[in-house]
Amino acid sequence: MQHTIYWIEGDGIGADIWKAAKPVIDAAVECAYHGQEELIWKELLAGEKAYKETGQYLPEQTLEALKSARVAIKGPLATPVGTGIRSLTVALRQTFDLYACIRPVKWYEGIIAAVRHPEKVNMTIFRENTEDVYSGIEFASNTDEAKKLINFLNQNFNKNIKSECAIGIKPMTEYGCKRLVRRAVQYAVKNNLPSVTLVHKGNIMKFTEGAFQKWGYEVAKEEFADCTITEKEVREGADPQNKIIIKDRIADAMFQEALIRPEEYSVIATTNLNGDYLSDALAAQVGGLGMAPGVNMSDSLAIFEATHGTAPTVAGKDVANPCSLLLSSAMLLEHIGLDRAGTAIQKAIQNCIDKKIVTQDLAKEIENAETVSCSSFGKLLTAEI
Ligand code: NAD
Repeated sequence: MQHTIYWIEGDGIGADIWKAAKPVIDAAVECAYHGQEELIWKELLAGEKAYKETGQYLPEQTLEALKSARVAIKGPLATPVGTGIRSLTVALRQTFDLYACIRPVKWYEGIIAAVRHPEKVNMTIFRENTEDVYSGIEFASNTDEAKKLINFLNQNFNKNIKSECAIGIKPMTEYGCKRLVRRAVQYAVKNNLPSVTLVHKGNIMKFTEGAFQKWGYEVAKEEFADCTITEKEVREGADPQNKIIIKDRIADAMFQEALIRPEEYSVIATTNLNGDYLSDALAAQVGGLGMAPGVNMSDSLAIFEATHGTAPTVAGKDVANPCSLLLSSAMLLEHIGLDRAGTAIQKAIQNCIDKKIVTQDLAKEIENAETVSCSSFGKLLTAEI
């Protein structure tokens, strides 16, 4: 069977990491399926490369192809300076309503981590990607817009906001929150995972963050009653019967829990800003920040991505680490049903870490490691497949 994989090279180190990663991915598929499954790579232009060839950072042909695509994978994209586009990655998320940002976080044995027991961290974060303070409704202090809004709020809602305030708005819908939580619970069901934790700041923001918690529990109760049970019900004596336990935690407490009792958490479903903080904090906790994989998904399209940036200072020097792109491609392969190939990539990376032969950034995080170039690392990984 042939699988079309749309790929975007990306800016900066994009070219370096793709050159190393693509042979590893092809080798993994070949080795796992012996020609029965085949990847058909189709390049889509975006970023600097697209601008040079078409005069546009996100050309129409790229958007058109993605409209009917099921999966794509991208390298990092620089934020163009002096254009109307805030970030190409954000533009893609908005254009295709990629509402779920999914980041699995686990430790690779041998990497020096910030905590004593990094092996206890094995969580997948589902971050809502389209709403919350990221919606872009924000006005600078002392502007007409800010003053108008403040005036309106003070007069109509009996508030007492200082007229010189900067002001931002946090829109959150039942639809947006529920579809994210639904995705997280479906993932827990599919992967036989023990719990889903709703992370929110509902003690302070009762009708936005608090509503996320309420709507999250509603989704579990209304749509997954046969396979979920709440932590409260279990505490009150109900038998969990191997059901997925739905819990919730206030965001600040969740950061403590992630450090103290990470083994009690499996799938996290959370709002946009909390998810932004939590994904980076958890990735840092287990070390290997440049290795974290991720995907942004709608109901029809999944765009997998290297989660780091373009690393302009090392671009073109053949020293970058391709692991984030590779681990994201492993997620992609699992997503399209080629699980064995995905697992092979993960194992090859662990083998190279065990042998302590890695790229320079990783070598700093492994005791007595030998540094190799990005391209040599790619060859070593291919040999491990
Ligand atoms: P960055 O991730 O590019 O770099 C941070 C540090 O990590 C640098 O020291 C860099 O050299 C290093 N680094 C990152 N990835 C590496 C890799 N694979 N191998 C070795 N070292 C690596 O972050 P930044 O400097 O803040 O951003 C640079 C550009 O990337 C900006 O234009 C930013 O907008 C863009 N960016 C894009 C994405 C994305 O497309 N998803 C994400 C973050 C930043």
